[in-house]
Amino acid sequence: MPAIGIDLGTTYSCVGVWQQGKVEIIANDQGNRTTPSYVAFTDTERLIGDAAKNQVALNPANTVFDAKRLIGRRFDDPKIQDDMKLWPFRVIEEGGKPKIQVEYRGEVKRFNPEEISSMVLTKMKEIAEAFLGQKIKDAVITVPAYFNDSQRQATKDAGAIAGINVLRIINEPTAAALAYGLDKNLKGERNILIFDLGGGTFDVSILTIDEGSLFEVKSTAGDTHLGGEDFDSRLVEFFAKEFERKYKKNLRNNPRALRRLRTASERAKRTLSSSTEASIEIDALFDGIDFYTKVSRARFEELCADLFRATLEPVEKALTDAKMDKRSIHDIVLVGGSTRIPKIQNLLQNFFSGKMLNLSINPDEAVAYGAAVQAAILSGEGDTSTSLQDVLLVDVAPLSLGIETAGGVMTNIIDRNARIPCKQTQIFTTYADNQPGVSIQVFEGERALTKDNNLLGRFELSGISPAPRGVPKIEVTFDLDANGILHVTAKDTASGRSSDVRITNDKGRLSREEIDRMLAEADRYREQDKQQRERIATRNQLESYIFSVKQAVQEQGSKLSQEDKNMVFNLCEETIRWLDSNTLAEKEEYQHKLDVVQKQCQPIMTKLHQGGGTGDRAPNYGSQPDCSSDYSGPTVEEVD
Ligand code: AMP
Repeated sequence: MPAIGIDLGTTYSCVGVWQQGKVEIIANDQGNRTTPSYVAFTDTERLIGDAAKNQVALNPANTVFDAKRLIGRRFDDPKIQDDMKLWPFRVIEEGGKPKIQVEYRGEVKRFNPEEISSMVLTKMKEIAEAFLGQKIKDAVITVPAYFNDSQRQATKDAGAIAGINVLRIINEPTAAALAYGLDKNLKGERNILIFDLGGGTFDVSILTIDEGSLFEVKSTAGDTHLGGEDFDSRLVEFFAKEFERKYKKNLRNNPRALRRLRTASERAKRTLSSSTEASIEIDALFDGIDFYTKVSRARFEELCADLFRATLEPVEKALTDAKMDKRSIHDIVLVGGSTRIPKIQNLLQNFFSGKMLNLSINPDEAVAYGAAVQAAILSGEGDTSTSLQDVLLVDVAPLSLGIETAGGVMTNIIDRNARIPCKQTQIFTTYADNQPGVSIQVFEGERALTKDNNLLGRFELSGISPAPRGVPKIEVTFDLDANGILHVTAKDTASGRSSDVRITNDKGRLSREEIDRMLAEADRYREQDKQQRERIATRNQLESYIFSVKQAVQEQGSKLSQEDKNMVFNLCEETIRWLDSNTLAEKEEYQHKLDVVQKQCQPIMTKLHQGGGTGDRAPNYGSQPDCSSDYSGPTVEEVD
């Protein structure tokens, strides 16, 4: 069974699989190679991907996106507090964690961010299953380099809720580098800078590739809040001002107008990557006013100048952290849709003194590409392919990890950018005579005092043998696994007593029971989706049948008695009325109605058939072109 690679993006996700010696990026049912990371809830159904994004304007409060900005964070996280002002869906607090509140099938529902991400992951899995024609279990999922432990854990949990066996969580830039490395036949050691500017996040990483086989992440830097959407916002504000100036009307408080303007702005932005001018044409944008205007590339660049320039700061920081000079960078790789913007390419190229940028990998797909390669390696598929052999991935800890020592000081045990997996032990002691226990508080971050860093968890070690201060030896071990997940142990060497913590619940991570519950719920939602599709399919079947009978009788009515014709027409009209007033009937009701109607119409249809001439046009409700064909064939079936 093949393993897939999933780039679980803030705005878009992408899935790839290793097949016949190369990566295949898989298109979804709409033919798109990336799928919006959107989930929508309506009165009747749940939609994921393009279908969800397409109806956002009609259903803003129940269309959820940006789950990646919520996942693994606490509700009081300032980032969440900031973002909340912009989200059209409700985020509420429950047990310190953010929950997304929507209305689904007439009921108020609350979801963990992990559950929303799991729905997107399920969709990506299903896209792969439809393409491969078989069930998928294993996947590699990517996260931004800046994700902390809690965010990684939560992403893993999202995978579990989607019924995915997460082979590994890898950093997005590392995945991109892996994709890139396979394209080239490297000789010697090369330093590569990955510049990843997507829709919502920005990551810079410096990697060293040795003979094309060893990838080492030397440093990472970035901004979790910079990307294409910020450029869209600048354009939206620009157009809103223009609208105000021209028509003396403020459209900013009208969500629908704003959304339509945002969609048009994003499209204009994309156009400006290849043309020097883009136009906006929105009919009845606000108060019935049609808004037609233009924007030049130069103006767009001016509007975003500070944001564009700001992308160079993390580049410098990554170079400093890696102790490298910009001249020692051999290759610059562009990842993420926003790197298509010419000005950004320009700034970066100038920063590196005119060096050519590497654009050989499709920037939207590079991460999923690399994830698919890594999935193939981990699932052993690589054994059959020479190009995959011997590729080893070395990741680094994105933040320093340590414990609090006397005076609230952060004492690092694993340094930022240490290679992972890794295990480090340090000896600590007591600061009072006969101190019976110690409290170990685990932090991540680069600040000198723990109060400025991020508390990951705490635990107690008790039963320390009585001794003067400074005498006991307490071994503290940090074990950071390949997924960047931390296990901390403390041991009193005299008594042999030890205590430990896996960094989990303190950061609001889901418990096993919660995951199991959500897994069961996810199955329930999937079942509901399936039932919903079947319900609609049966309704369509009934509708098609009625219309085709009506049409057949209209066209060939001469073969029938007036009585028969009246009977059929009345039956059709009555059924159409019934359909109109029973839009939410169950599948069984539609089926029952269909059976009854078919039974009543059958003798008449037989007469039409027997009547010769065009009798072969008797209804075959599967082939009526003007009827929805949703009900038939595999397009609406689950992949199982
Ligand atoms: P990603 O998450 O990598 O798919 O990036 C998506 C972001 O890239 C969105 O903000 C898009 O608007 C942006 N994007 C995609 N294509 C282009 C383009 N041709 N020019 C500018 N931005 C683009």
